[in-house]
Amino acid sequence: MSEKRLLKPEAVQEVHLETDILIIGAGNAGCFAAIEAKRLNPNLKVTLLEKAHIDRSGCLAAGMDALNTYIKKGKTREDLVRWSRDQVGGGPLREDLTLSMAEYLNRCIEEWEEWGLPIKKDENGEYLARGKWDIAIHGESMKVILAEKVREYNCEVINKVAATSYLVDEGRVVGVTGLGVKDGKFYVVRAGATIVATGGAAGLYKPYTNDGNDCHHQIWYSPFNVGTGYAMGIRIGAEMTSFEMRWCAVRTKDFNGPIDTISVGYNAAMINGRGEKILQTHYSHLGGEAAPRFIRANAPMDEWLAGRGPTYVDTTGMTPEQVKDLKEDYLNERPTFVQFLAARGQDITREPIEVYGSDPYIVGGHTASGYWINNDRSTTVPGLFACGDVAGGVPNKFVGGCAAEGVLAAIGAVQYVAGLTDRGHIDPEAVKSEKERVYAPMVQMAEVGDGITPREMEERLQRLMDEYAGGVHQFYRTDHHRLEYALKHIKILQEQVRYLIAEDVFNLLAAHEVIDRLTVAEVLVHHLLYRAETRWPGWQTRADFPEKDEKLNCFVNSRFNPETGAIEVFTRPYEKVVD
Ligand SMILES: Cc1cc2nc3c(=O)[nH]c(=O)nc-3n(C[C@H](O)[C@H](O)[C@H](O)COP(=O)(O)OP(=O)(O)OC[C@H]3O[C@@H](n4cnc5c(N)ncnc54)[C@H](O)[C@@H]3O)c2cc1C
Repeated sequence: MSEKRLLKPEAVQEVHLETDILIIGAGNAGCFAAIEAKRLNPNLKVTLLEKAHIDRSGCLAAGMDALNTYIKKGKTREDLVRWSRDQVGGGPLREDLTLSMAEYLNRCIEEWEEWGLPIKKDENGEYLARGKWDIAIHGESMKVILAEKVREYNCEVINKVAATSYLVDEGRVVGVTGLGVKDGKFYVVRAGATIVATGGAAGLYKPYTNDGNDCHHQIWYSPFNVGTGYAMGIRIGAEMTSFEMRWCAVRTKDFNGPIDTISVGYNAAMINGRGEKILQTHYSHLGGEAAPRFIRANAPMDEWLAGRGPTYVDTTGMTPEQVKDLKEDYLNERPTFVQFLAARGQDITREPIEVYGSDPYIVGGHTASGYWINNDRSTTVPGLFACGDVAGGVPNKFVGGCAAEGVLAAIGAVQYVAGLTDRGHIDPEAVKSEKERVYAPMVQMAEVGDGITPREMEERLQRLMDEYAGGVHQFYRTDHHRLEYALKHIKILQEQVRYLIAEDVFNLLAAHEVIDRLTVAEVLVHHLLYRAETRWPGWQTRADFPEKDEKLNCFVNSRFNPETGAIEVFTRPYEKVVD
């Protein structure tokens, strides 16, 4: 039995820190926020708290082969809004936030290039286009480049600490608590302003790759982003938006690798079991090959349902040179895909690549789910700013847009700190009770020696969400009764949280990951229940309301009421600012 196994709250070492600007999550958006804050005021102490290690954390850990949003010559910020609106079937989206994001989008990408990111060029020396808004890059080191820049700007980086809860004083955020994921220590960080940049939420639903074996984290989104940033905000009553606009994507079957690289990068069409080009043959009325992302994601699943599966991307027309380039692209972002093909002995010029829908995620960089924010990226809770995948309202931000939001959040946070007259008070009782909450699964293990493992609860939650809240095994479909069932059983799981056990720090972290997922899942189900229509088939399909209801072209928002314990769901109007 390891020493860590005996950790009890009173025996845990506390680490107390103080900073001007605290950034939770040193991923893409968090790094840009840190650099910008230091540029605006080099005298400020800027601290990044990172669950993993800044050099290879978050979505950019392995790298990317494209930046999906860049405003190319001849295009405007308003064009970006129009395109983004089309991608979400006409709305809703926050056009005001999209415009402000677009103001910093190109600057971030161009600076990244100056710092060493290789961006591919065409014969005119312009960035090489991969689609209408995408540009091609050699991105395998993009995160390392960013991390070096953060260090160069003298930001403080605390790796291997996972934030657990915000500290609140008279309604404003004054810091955060954290768990040392290696050392098991309890961190208390006091901050002038806090920026949350923890990415989206993976692992809410059972992935099709999860068949009871050890590959349950063989998913598309970063498995370390479990929605803690959302959960922390929900617990203190921050307003959230559009959780029901889930992100589901077409992925390589049995591997869960991205396919835009193939379908957009190499114009390889999706085909069904009959060899028909799916989008051209069955979805031409919805835009064909240019159909919005949710239609493209849903199409393979509809083909299976219609008896026309399996589905593929047709790589059989690719030349050997293209195959070589494609594999190089994958070595940037998903190196194991090349091994996957090699292990199968698959020659993709003879055999197309099978594709399937992914499990659903909450990802505010792709859809509009996340914190409800203002133009300066402040949330509805004073002292707290949000950017990147954790922030809502702006679908299709992707890499560049999340970086731009980091810059905006930094500007907002620096201004906020400049106007502060006092830094607030940290309540020792709140710290004590959070510490007890954090280490409870270890106490349960030490004192009772038996209970529910985090993995068992994760399996139960993922299966529940998959079967009742529109997972991939249900072809993304759900309905009122199934959602009510899901809510009832999420509540049961929440009651069982007290039986969670952790025998070491690794499992303690896993316990909190599943607790946070439960919180996010509950809010998500409330949102799915409220939207009694089908607005984005696949992303959000209500089998009991198969049509779009124009009355619901508005935001579905929610707020947890800490006093009543209820999640209140309401709407906010969609305000169009671009023609
Ligand atoms: C596989 C994949 C492929 C993609 N392909 C493309 C592409 O080709 N082009 C494109 O433009 N976009 C692409 N995207 C989207 C893009 O990468 C993301 O939208 C964007 O980078 C997200 O940035 P972020 O900073 O919000 O999140 P992240 O970069 O994920 O950063 C979040 C950080 O928070 C940390 N964290 C999480 N929880 C905690 C906690 N409790 N405490 C402390 N730290 C925490 C994480 O470890 C991580 O470092 C892709 C995304 C994925 C996952």
